Amino acid sequence: MSDAYTGGCACGEIRYEISSDPVAMVDCQCRDCQRKSGTGHSSYLAFMGKSSVKLEGEATHWDLVADSGNVKTRAFCPTCGSPVYVTFKAAPDVIAIHAGSLDDPSRYKPQLVTYAVRGHAWDHLDPALPKFEKMPPR
Ligand SMILES: [Zn+2]
Ligand SMILES: [Zn+2]
Repeated sequence: MSDAYTGGCACGEIRYEISSDPVAMVDCQCRDCQRKSGTGHSSYLAFMGKSSVKLEGEATHWDLVADSGNVKTRAFCPTCGSPVYVTFKAAPDVIAIHAGSLDDPSRYKPQLVTYAVRGHAWDHLDPALPKFEKMPPR
């Protein structure tokens, strides 16, 4: 196992420490990720097993129905507004953190692109990455 993944919001009120390795690293171009990031996509590291995740600080939570029809919960800092992590009603053991919230964002190595069908010509991603119109098949 590699060193823990640490990070948090811009003002430091929300902090996390994750002692497992990510199961997936994904650029998502869905409309929700565009609105949340303010640009063409959001970048996530997904981890399995909430027991390996230590959270500090009180995030504000907001539920929304994703393009897929699943309910996801966005957690963001009430003070600085930074999106920090996302959880999923249908997959309660998964937590996805925003790559930009890492103390060392260079640890993010995107593996695939989801919801490419919503992508914009101006949002250029690595052409070598496998792209899925929506979610990859399970
Ligand atoms: Zn903050
Ligand atoms: Zn998305």
